[in-house]
Amino acid sequence: MAERKSVWFHELSGQEVTAYAQKECDVAILPLGSIEQHGPHCPTASDSLNAIGMVERIAEKSGAMALPSPMYGSHPYHHWYMPGTIPLTYETHIGLVMDIVRGAAVSGYNKFILLSAHGQVSSTIVAVHKLGLEGYFTLSLHWYDFLRDNKDVLEDAMWHADEAETSVALYLYPQFVDMSKAVKEEGEGLLSSKWKIAPGMQAEPGQMYHFEGTFARPECCELKAGVIGDPTKASVEKGEKLVTRLVDLVSELIAEIRERYPVGVKPQVSVKERD
Ligand SMILES: [Zn+2]
Repeated sequence: MAERKSVWFHELSGQEVTAYAQKECDVAILPLGSIEQHGPHCPTASDSLNAIGMVERIAEKSGAMALPSPMYGSHPYHHWYMPGTIPLTYETHIGLVMDIVRGAAVSGYNKFILLSAHGQVSSTIVAVHKLGLEGYFTLSLHWYDFLRDNKDVLEDAMWHADEAETSVALYLYPQFVDMSKAVKEEGEGLLSSKWKIAPGMQAEPGQMYHFEGTFARPECCELKAGVIGDPTKASVEKGEKLVTRLVDLVSELIAEIRERYPVGVKPQVSVKERD
């Protein structure tokens, strides 16, 4: 693979991004996060910065084009009205993601991966299916659900501003993290936690995915510090292991896409041709 000036679409000219899609690789990957409070120790853009750092490494390793992150994300009902958080409604976010995919397709990109580092599968999955009806090949993955089980790296399940997210932050942008302010906090659910699959964990019989119900009280009533989990257990080493594992897996996925569908070939998604 030829050395690239940048892996980022927004740092290249229109001619360069178009030529790259036509000659080298027409897989594009979009980092999705949020602007959301992440406790007193992490910045509000943590999820977006996590997604951007992961996507940059995936693009370098796989050859995919990295699309600029819109930074804002959609949020489940219980995140709303929390200071430090700026949520988009689901409809806005679905439309935003769809417009980015449609726009990048004009430059010749034919295969899309949405990499989310924030719990917003409720909108990204809807976007994928609406795009599917229009003939776009789009995969939506959420980093900790894609990794599934990290008991060899982490002590706890992966929640919010916690061991996992703070470890990734320490690895990717330590200059914005103040571990002296990190505190452990837990919310109490409306039902026993046994009915809910914790993010990133394997499912047990009788469990719903945590987005399948209104399990939580509003965070602005429930949380004091804005943390769910224990960020004091975070470390750079844990962050590096999680990011490396994700980069390797997603790059393997992109390698398969590139092999099965060479440049210019669109996987047939819809009975209707896209163009
Ligand atoms: Zn987060």
